[in-house]
Amino acid sequence: MASNEVDGMTLAQSTTLTPLELHRHLSKLHPELTVLSPQDLQGRHPGEHSGNFGAGVMVQPATVDAAAALVGWCAKNDVAIVPQGGLTGLVGGNVSVAGEVILSTARLNRILAIEPEEMTATVEAGVTLEALQQAAAEHGLTPGIDLGSRGSATIGGMVSTNAGGILAFRNGVMRHQVLGLEAVLPSGDIFSDLTRVVKVSAGPDLKQLFIGGEGAFGLVTKVVLKLEPQRPYRATAMLGAADARTALSVIRHLRTLPGVTLEAAEMMWPRYIRDHARLKGLDLSWLEEDASALLVEISGESVDAAAATLEDQLAELWEPLDLKGGIVAKSLDQARRFWDIREDSGFYYAEIPEAASFDVSVPPTRLDA
Ligand SMILES: Cc1cc2nc3c(=O)[nH]c(=O)nc-3n(C[C@H](O)[C@H](O)[C@H](O)COP(=O)(O)OP(=O)(O)OC[C@H]3O[C@@H](n4cnc5c(N)ncnc54)[C@H](O)[C@@H]3O)c2cc1C
Repeated sequence: MASNEVDGMTLAQSTTLTPLELHRHLSKLHPELTVLSPQDLQGRHPGEHSGNFGAGVMVQPATVDAAAALVGWCAKNDVAIVPQGGLTGLVGGNVSVAGEVILSTARLNRILAIEPEEMTATVEAGVTLEALQQAAAEHGLTPGIDLGSRGSATIGGMVSTNAGGILAFRNGVMRHQVLGLEAVLPSGDIFSDLTRVVKVSAGPDLKQLFIGGEGAFGLVTKVVLKLEPQRPYRATAMLGAADARTALSVIRHLRTLPGVTLEAAEMMWPRYIRDHARLKGLDLSWLEEDASALLVEISGESVDAAAATLEDQLAELWEPLDLKGGIVAKSLDQARRFWDIREDSGFYYAEIPEAASFDVSVPPTRLDA
């Protein structure tokens, strides 16, 4: 069996190290690495998959150099790494097994810069979406992307999954918000492209490999994001639509209205909204039985102006589009309850385990097919 000298430590190659052996080796590797043992991980919540902590050893670098030292050591010693952010991923990308090392970005959690004039933010990978939303809001800005898991999901995880969410309709997915990023490559080398401008004609654009890469091409350590204006004066409504074509007509109409911006539009099929109503005791008396629900949010000059526009447009579209119901939120609290129906799909799957779970995209005009 070959042996290998790394940072003063000699390891037998092609031997799977136990979590405790890995813990012992990694604890001496770099002063800015926190190394958690199987015992330390006991009692911690593993997130959305019970197998996430299977490796039994978690390393939390506080700097990119510490992360690079860890990745380099693992490369030389043939130890697989599973990056973990907020552990909200729903498809098992965080699952780890004994012999692997969990690389958590929990301590890479600094917001490095918010540039209001540039409308950019530079953050470490472990910053949560909510922390960035709050910091950007102080400047009247928003990351332009939002998920129900905002309190835990990290920017690094969102880049690595190319997250979509409830503003994808307006601003695109995570890929469209990323201007630059830094990553530790599987060799332990550092890739750095912290571009802060939209207009770049240089190519090829290698950072795209990491966006949606789920960690396969490296550990994302820093991200530069484009920020959007906040537009705080909002009104929200739920409409009943017979089919997706009707919903698209409503969306096109609201999109072209002067003086308001359509911020979000989410359609929920009859089965989904009916199950939600049953499980959560919602009153759906305003919605015809077989109709889908279209959730729309617009912004305007004031909350009252936006709400009045929604009321007027509902009345105008009612007959031509044969709408199957409509309700404009009367308060922020009611709007929040509308959004809860869209965002709380986890609740739905917990109550109805046999519900199919998938995330597919089709051209909007094919939705009814
Ligand atoms: C209530 C709820 C609502 C959700 N809504 C949406 C939604 O609307 N749209 C959507 O797209 N998703 C949604 N999700 C899924 C999830 O929140 C997103 O996929 C999110 O982007 C994951 O971020 P995270 O920090 O939790 O990543 P994790 O779950 O920790 O990791 C996800 C994947 O990325 C890898 N990874 C994590 N960090 C890094 C890094 N720094 N470098 C390299 N690889 C890394 C991991 O290995 C794993 O493969 C939702 C989840 C929940 C629980």
